[in-house]
Amino acid sequence: MDVNCLTIARLAEALAAGKISSREATGAVLDRIAATGEQVNAYITLDREGALAAAAEADRRLAAGAAPPLCGVPIAVKDVLCTKGLRTTGGSKILADFIPPYDATVVAKLRQAGAVIIGKTTMDEFAMGSANENSPFAVPRNPWNLDYICGGSSGGSAAVVAADQCVAALGTDTGGSIRQPASNCGVVGFKPTYGRVSRYGLLAFASSLDQVGPITKDVRDAALLLNAICGHDPRDSTSVREPVPDFTAALDQGLAGLRLGLPREYFEVGLDPDVQRTVEAAIRQLEGAGAELREISLPRTEYGVAAYYVIAPAEASSNLARYDGVRFGHRDPAADELAAMYRRSRSQGFGPEVKRRIIIGTYALSSGYYDAYYRKASQVRSLIIEDYRRAFKECDVIVSPVTPTPAWRLGAKSDPLSMYLTDILTIPTNLAGLPGMSLPCGFSDAGLPIGLQLQAAHYREDQILRVAADLEKRLGLTERRPVL
Ligand code: GLN
Repeated sequence: MDVNCLTIARLAEALAAGKISSREATGAVLDRIAATGEQVNAYITLDREGALAAAAEADRRLAAGAAPPLCGVPIAVKDVLCTKGLRTTGGSKILADFIPPYDATVVAKLRQAGAVIIGKTTMDEFAMGSANENSPFAVPRNPWNLDYICGGSSGGSAAVVAADQCVAALGTDTGGSIRQPASNCGVVGFKPTYGRVSRYGLLAFASSLDQVGPITKDVRDAALLLNAICGHDPRDSTSVREPVPDFTAALDQGLAGLRLGLPREYFEVGLDPDVQRTVEAAIRQLEGAGAELREISLPRTEYGVAAYYVIAPAEASSNLARYDGVRFGHRDPAADELAAMYRRSRSQGFGPEVKRRIIIGTYALSSGYYDAYYRKASQVRSLIIEDYRRAFKECDVIVSPVTPTPAWRLGAKSDPLSMYLTDILTIPTNLAGLPGMSLPCGFSDAGLPIGLQLQAAHYREDQILRVAADLEKRLGLTERRPVL
């Protein structure tokens, strides 16, 4: 048994049967990180002692019987989620020494479910980016080809799952940051419906868009992690009271009678030929499986990026105002008066992309410009929501590429606009608050993974999982692994 390749479901089985202990599984993960961690460079902070202590506790619970579902399973957490007593940087120098006094609700839920938190994964600073290169701590390398990006902003979480440096991970998705790196790294990434998962203890980027979700080795694991993290939280007023189903119940339902929508506009954005070929082959499999395919239209897709780059920076400029050197994070010790202290602490602490967004956001919200930019962007957002509402009358799940191209070479994209445009197919999901997923569906000629995006109506994660589970079996890609 190669412990490092196990999924949550398979490891949980082995743990329950007493074939392996959580201490052994956690030790195997730590050994794997010791052997391959430097190549992939995806952890900012490892919690060796904490993990081994949690594993020992999990072994006690397993031995006592009736252990909770994730008991003893090593999981990594994106460094934007607060972990009590364990450094949480948000990928920013401004929080380089921040040790949270509490756990994010999702982290507390993982711990309650018995999970072993291995460490914190690298990310774009404050989750702003699509290549994980906006990162003062660690720029991760794609496990399938170390010269390529992992994607972002949850690049570290996708990389550690792909590289078997943990069993599963949590990421966050504001405009594609779970789905795009999952696609680039050949793993499953799931962004739940906005409000499904608590944002308490998540360092906020754009509060109306941010959502936490699983990055896993297969579809069943995504369902298992969703079971663990979804649910209402009185500490997050945007978390919903919607009942949480057992998401694994959706996995064996087959596709008969399901209507799948292919949005015309998503295939007209200049897709890379490898993406086109791979996605079309996956769609043919779905057709062969008894699903009904329909062409649909999401006509405002092309305006999503523009609306997002007003709304997200506007919210970020407000959310990041708290990092002023007074209560949180870095303070310039040399500043001798208050205004200089703010200015110098923020100038030193934030990186260039974060500064750019704060400036754009502050401008868009400023008096006289609010109507021209923020209000207009909000109106476009409503139109995009309207597009989806119409589309979901005709289909149950929307099937498309995740991104127009596979991963690119590290350093290949330097201007922000070309980076922003790569999120054209993932941003609309967030603007509408819908659930969305990336499922590995094939490889480019150069051997880089390519994902398929599935989107459904609010709270219909089950429909996405149903399609993904069926297609995953037909594609048979889960055993294929990068060589490190
Ligand atoms: N790439 C997008 C951005 O830079 C989305 C990031 C995210 O989802 N956190 O804002």
